[in-house]
Amino acid sequence: MELVLANPRGFCAGVDRAIRIVELALELYGRPLYVRHAIVHNRHVVDELSRAGAIFVESLEEVPDGSSVVFSAHGVAPGVWAAARRRELHVVDATCPLVAKVHLEVERHARAGASVLVIGHRGHVEVEGTCGHFPPHARGLLHVIESEREAAEVSVPEPDRVAYVTQTTLSLDDVARIVEVLRARFPALVGPRTDDICYATQNRQTGVRQLAQRCDVVLVVGAAHSSNSMRMKEVGERAGAAVHLIEDPGEIDFDWFRHARSIGLTASASAPEALVAATVERLQARWPDLARSTLGEPERISFRLPRMAPRSATVASERG
Ligand code: SF4
Repeated sequence: MELVLANPRGFCAGVDRAIRIVELALELYGRPLYVRHAIVHNRHVVDELSRAGAIFVESLEEVPDGSSVVFSAHGVAPGVWAAARRRELHVVDATCPLVAKVHLEVERHARAGASVLVIGHRGHVEVEGTCGHFPPHARGLLHVIESEREAAEVSVPEPDRVAYVTQTTLSLDDVARIVEVLRARFPALVGPRTDDICYATQNRQTGVRQLAQRCDVVLVVGAAHSSNSMRMKEVGERAGAAVHLIEDPGEIDFDWFRHARSIGLTASASAPEALVAATVERLQARWPDLARSTLGEPERISFRLPRMAPRSATVASERG
């Protein structure tokens, strides 16, 4: 049996930064430290930070007045910041800079009076945060588009003033098809200067496609509730391989490899390398002479941490 590991794989710079922020906040501000929403969509990461003292909540209402709270990598709407200020919460923002870029695009389009089409999954926490950056009084000009059908049906008051942004973790191919439909209907459609689908999503999708073309079975370490994990599974399947999404190596069923001679292994942007190593270990225990190779080059991207202000100064005020 041959094992091919994809590069890059696992944590992206935004996830790495978000986890570092929670760890640093625990050191600086101590417990209790609240984190609004799973800091990244991975149970192992959340469990580990919970053991270190982080308390994960879905809503600010669960955070006692005056507490320290971290906003997750997925970003939040300005209304959440306003609520945090009212409650005198000490906020540390772990929003990925690439999600923050999309927020700025939405605000820019709103100022220009354009209808904004947010290509993404309705109800996904990142999409909710992004939509929140559109002014409430103009919400009729904002639409979430999930499919080509919705792109074909959306109605806007001024077809020559339409812009789109996207969730950062979508499939490049799906977005391209949706944008094609929109552009046919709205020739003056304005899009992002550089793709909203982030570099990490693109690189991991390219990696899983290459694995799928080369290997009989592909394992993606990731979670079913993680958008970037699910898109990697779909991209691999479209490229022709049997793809299995596993949250940890215990989920491997060796029947999957009954007719296989090669296994591809990769991990989504929210999956820690320790799980990849444990997966390799499990495969090696089954095939002691497993031949290993890698495909692609690792990423060398990192994002700066935000200034972690002392507890007395509310970071919420920095954000205006
Ligand atoms: S997947 Fe992309 S947008 Fe999301 S946290 Fe990672 S780098 Fe940021």
